[in-house]
Amino acid sequence: MKPILQNLVEMTGHRDHLRLEVSVLSTLQSVSGILQVRSLEIFQDGGQLHYRPRTWLGANGQWMSAGVEAASDPQRRTVADDLPALHACLQDQSSSAVAVLGKGRHGLWLPVWMNEKVHTCLEVIQNRPFSAQKIDTITHVFQVFRNYQSLLDYSERDALTGLLNRKTFDEQFSRSTFCEVAVPMAQELSLPVDEAGEGPDRQWLAVIDIDHFKMVNDRFGHLYGDEVLILLANILRSSFRSHDRIFRFGGEEFVVLLRSTSLARAHKVFNRFRKNVEDHYFPQVGQVTVSVGFVAAESGSPVEALGRADQALYFAKENGRNQVRYYDDLLAAGLLQTKQVSNDDVELF
Ligand code: GH3
Ligand code: MG
Ligand code: MG
Repeated sequence: MKPILQNLVEMTGHRDHLRLEVSVLSTLQSVSGILQVRSLEIFQDGGQLHYRPRTWLGANGQWMSAGVEAASDPQRRTVADDLPALHACLQDQSSSAVAVLGKGRHGLWLPVWMNEKVHTCLEVIQNRPFSAQKIDTITHVFQVFRNYQSLLDYSERDALTGLLNRKTFDEQFSRSTFCEVAVPMAQELSLPVDEAGEGPDRQWLAVIDIDHFKMVNDRFGHLYGDEVLILLANILRSSFRSHDRIFRFGGEEFVVLLRSTSLARAHKVFNRFRKNVEDHYFPQVGQVTVSVGFVAAESGSPVEALGRADQALYFAKENGRNQVRYYDDLLAAGLLQTKQVSNDDVELF
């Protein structure tokens, strides 16, 4: 029991989701008789549930973590074909599943449920059936992990919209652009060049600002203004993929980190979002529009990339609002000048 307690202390000392995950995995790995523990990423594609390993113990004894792009990962498998017990558990929204895996191996799966959705599942393998006592121990460790994870999640989110808050931006930014994590990363998939000639896949950063939001508050009151913010957050969530990151940066300003896509797709995705907002009927308020400025996320430090996206946003505001502008296009057309951005003068639109 002592090593588990020590591990729990270690586990709750982290302020980072990946480190916390590695910590719970090593705690479970230290339970006697356990052969292998890993986390699986669960995602929907083409109406089917898929999984792929996300964090696991490498042959060198170090924890490995896969990159962020699940959809094109050759390691991915269909849950229904490979792990029918887990598939049934996910369909029924149950808290765990056990099954015999062949070669005398037994598996236990613990899906991480969040608002009736699941993106992650812990997998524990041993070479004999799981006793009730063993399941009990593992489940308790898992619950400590879940409780701590929701505390961590709460501290990273904006109370009104539930989106990530500004505080978490720098870390998410470096993770998306440089894949900096505490544990060695598995070989990142080489970024595919888009066969349709849309350019290489990159990470994109967009700054989004509601148009004439002050008028919404002035005409309908702050409560309606708040409702617009909540509904807009919902449109943001449904307009981007689960791997993209969405932040509320301040009042009515949002930032999106779009992962691994071509410039042409980035244009399409941001414009689709802009159109989704334009077409939405906001109760009482009616129509609301947004302006968007974006840039490649690798184009400098977070502050520099934000500054450039912000310049493009400013241009959109000055030139009619309700539009998406790409910084490099504006620069190439001579419509914007490069500007030295320092930490002191970053102020979003
Ligand atoms: P523009 O199209 O140029 O962006 O105009 P705007 O009116 O949206 O810009 P401005 O920055 O002047 O106004 C932003 C307003 O957002 C002012 C502030 O009262 C409001 N606001 C900021 N935070 C909140 C919030 O949490 N709730 C509500 N209801 N309003 C907020
Ligand atoms: Mg505004
Ligand atoms: Mg603003």
